[in-house]
Amino acid sequence: MARVIEGGYCVGCGACAALDPGITMRRNDRQSLVAALPENATPSREAELSCPFTDESADEESLSQERFTAADIQRDKRIGAYLGTYAGWVEEGEFRAKGSSGGMGAWILSELLERDLVDAVIHVAELERDDDPTSDEIPMFGFRVSTNAGDVKAHAKSRYYPVQMSDVIKHMIETPGRYAVVGVPCFCTALRLVAKQSEIVSERLAFVVGIVCGHLKSGAFAEALAWQCGIAPEGLQSVDFRVKLEGRPASRYGLRADGIVNGEPKSVTAPMEGLIGANWGHGLFKLKACEFCDDVLAETADIVVGDAWLPQYDDDYRGTNVVVVRDATLHTIVKDAARKGRLHLEDLSADEVAASQAGGLRHRRDGLAYRLLLADERGDWRPRKRVLANAAQLTKKLQRIHRKRYALGQASHDAFLKAKQAGNFVIFEQEMAPLLKSYDREHSRSLLRRAAGRVKRMLLG
Ligand SMILES: Cc1cc2nc3c(=O)[nH]c(=O)nc-3n(C[C@H](O)[C@H](O)[C@H](O)COP(=O)(O)OP(=O)(O)OC[C@H]3O[C@@H](n4cnc5c(N)ncnc54)[C@H](O)[C@@H]3O)c2cc1C
Ligand code: SF4
Ligand code: SF4
Repeated sequence: MARVIEGGYCVGCGACAALDPGITMRRNDRQSLVAALPENATPSREAELSCPFTDESADEESLSQERFTAADIQRDKRIGAYLGTYAGWVEEGEFRAKGSSGGMGAWILSELLERDLVDAVIHVAELERDDDPTSDEIPMFGFRVSTNAGDVKAHAKSRYYPVQMSDVIKHMIETPGRYAVVGVPCFCTALRLVAKQSEIVSERLAFVVGIVCGHLKSGAFAEALAWQCGIAPEGLQSVDFRVKLEGRPASRYGLRADGIVNGEPKSVTAPMEGLIGANWGHGLFKLKACEFCDDVLAETADIVVGDAWLPQYDDDYRGTNVVVVRDATLHTIVKDAARKGRLHLEDLSADEVAASQAGGLRHRRDGLAYRLLLADERGDWRPRKRVLANAAQLTKKLQRIHRKRYALGQASHDAFLKAKQAGNFVIFEQEMAPLLKSYDREHSRSLLRRAAGRVKRMLLG
């Protein structure tokens, strides 16, 4: 675990801190959450085995094999195990309008409560900061426990923001009941690992709902976007990262930021494009752990929801989910709801699901293999992954692109810290401009080459 933390591979999930009272979760100056180990003591074995980044803990494949054992389960190297794969959205209520995508995330969690299949849902929500909504002491978002569907519905939407589970896992251990927990893939893995160490968690963890994940952002992401909209970090109160903008494709969503400027409340809604950091391909403010991750579709979750980033759905600004179901009870629930018209579901093939996350999968298969090789060549310790270190799958040009993208993400943390300390966003812009320009030039040439290759193949039949 010390190697995980010192190497910068801690994703800040908080699993270890839930099981070892000597471990605490701290926010560092890069605005990420990181575990702090007890001084002069080694972390407990339970904590080590609960960390999704130690070499000793079970990987996603073995956890999935253990959990998903139905006779009709199918397995795919890219999307994991599945009973059913769909695209769709919630027809009933305001789930779709209030959700990031098709609203399935909040719907599944509240449906589990409504059907009395769980007593509580652990999900991510805005934290109350009534005394001083701009205070840095309390983060903007965090995990909370909700026991009624209304609270789950009220706290939909994706929070591209560091959150940690140590307190809610402790709550689960202290408070009897059946729980559903939502998390990005590594958090789902951490939950399964905790359940292997704690019989209580194993009994109480009834469902794990996964969220497809491209990568996690540091807290600077929210601040950088809002700052460009005229709200500086010290006045920032809240951010909605996924505002649906009518008349535009679903993928061209907007941002809403609220805060105080010159003593006056200010609220801004703006399209994301054009804001530095908003292009997910650039990977600005990305945690280093995310560069060493091989799970895109939460392979250990009972169900996973994401965005159906496929051309046939992008026109509908209201958003469409991609859904992979692995648990038989949840499969019955979603199929039953679709039959009754409560959900709209269309069958997707495993290939289409993978295509909806093509960029994420490329980055965490071929790209990861290359990053592992680079780490090995540098002699750095890095976590063991299901992908093997290799460069052969990437052309020299693609290797350059991956190196530049990695450098972009890592450079963004210190550049933003400098800008924040100086109270001047331009410092960030100036530091990042040459790196962004160089990356964009290389990337657009590669896109052009790929398009030319496609045309040539078509002409040759
Ligand atoms: C860091 C991050 C990266 C993502 N990357 C991708 C991607 O590359 N491709 C893709 O298709 N989709 C990605 N998503 C998922 C996408 O943004 C939507 O969350 C997903 O499509 C579900 O939308 P929905 O309308 O069904 O969910 P909603 O109905 O809006 O519900 C979302 C649920 O997720 C919970 N939640 C929000 N933020 C977090 C969080 N940080 N950790 C755990 N739970 C959370 C909320 O509490 C809520 O219950 C990402 C999400 C996150 C948080
Ligand atoms: S369990 Fe989570 S918080 Fe603890 S060291 Fe591992 S990644 Fe970090
Ligand atoms: S990219 Fe991987 S490591 Fe990073 S938050 Fe997502 S699931 Fe976790």
